[in-house]
Amino acid sequence: MSNLAESSFEPTLLTEGATIGIVGGGQLGQMMAESARDMGFKALILDPAADCPAAQVADGQIVAEYSDEGAILELADKSDVVTYEFENVDADVLDRDSARVKLPQGTASLRVSQDRLAEKQFVESLGIPLAGYRPVSSREELEQAVADLGYPCVLKTTRGGYDGKGQQVLRSEADLEAATELAENTQCVLEAWVPFTKEISVLVVGDGTGNAVTFPVSENEHRNNILHVTVAPARVSEETAVTAQKYAQAIASALKIVGMLAIEMFVGEGGEVVVNEMAPRPHNSGHWTIEGCSQSQFDLHVRAVTGMPLREPELVSPAVMVNVLGQHLESARELAAIGPNWILHDYGKSEARTDRKVGHITVLGTDPQATIDEIEQTGVWGCPA
Ligand code: AMP
Repeated sequence: MSNLAESSFEPTLLTEGATIGIVGGGQLGQMMAESARDMGFKALILDPAADCPAAQVADGQIVAEYSDEGAILELADKSDVVTYEFENVDADVLDRDSARVKLPQGTASLRVSQDRLAEKQFVESLGIPLAGYRPVSSREELEQAVADLGYPCVLKTTRGGYDGKGQQVLRSEADLEAATELAENTQCVLEAWVPFTKEISVLVVGDGTGNAVTFPVSENEHRNNILHVTVAPARVSEETAVTAQKYAQAIASALKIVGMLAIEMFVGEGGEVVVNEMAPRPHNSGHWTIEGCSQSQFDLHVRAVTGMPLREPELVSPAVMVNVLGQHLESARELAAIGPNWILHDYGKSEARTDRKVGHITVLGTDPQATIDEIEQTGVWGCPA
């Protein structure tokens, strides 16, 4: 994968008032736009939904599909740089129009993270541990892969999955049939099951020259495959945290990352760290950095794509972040009154749909377990899974 490091990044320091074009207008685009405006930039959003969360805080919106090449060119022409809030943008379009679309991030990290198989091969090539895996696109390959990796294991589509979508856990032969259907429909990868004790993520921000700064490691708990709670800094040993950050630095450096890269990892019983997946953008598990760090993940992303130098973010306060899904929103609004350290972010989505992220609450404090207990005692998030 030597071509990954070939993108030549030439930082151009943008001046105040310059426009940052953002593909995608959800909550990540919204918080990016807020940081951009705080720094004196303008934000222009491309999103098919008029009045999407990001457009509510931005200077303008182009209402069009993300795949609309004409709209991407219009965004590029009206912006000084372009960035994105999610990794499923069409890298071919961005490359084809690279003379007009000034994308400091380039497309190499996008291409790697859009394809689980490419991602795994890349991480493996750096000597970083990850779960055993096999590419699978037929019943025959599935059976061979299961024989190699054993039960339990998990089949994942190589492209397009998020929040556990496009995944099938196999516990025994009884699950083979359903998994075959998935594998025959689309290219998949079978992964060995990792008996993790914790899920963590490392957020790293690169300046395009191979240098990168990292945030304190976050610890993540999912419910129904959707991020529920993040605790930061993660309650792991110093050694585990350092190892996780070292892996993140190595990945960011090899990709010459510009801006944010979020890497999800598993921690085993002995504290060992295994990389799961990554996304070259701000991440849900880094929302706590808005209040919890000297500079947020969005601030540093904007600094990186506008060519500003980066400084290691400092921890201001330990934090617990809980996601607010559509079904939680009404009650969550009342929770913001619990205390001065409970900070609600409401994304302003037009519909509070069940199981869709519509906001989050960050609670600052030095006793994360007490905060988690308090969160669960509110009853808003139902019974612990
Ligand atoms: P992913 O989309 O890869 O992040 O997977 C969604 C969730 O499924 C993860 O956050 C884990 O909780 C779980 N999971 C995914 N892959 C594995 C694995 N190989 N072993 C154990 N749990 C996994």
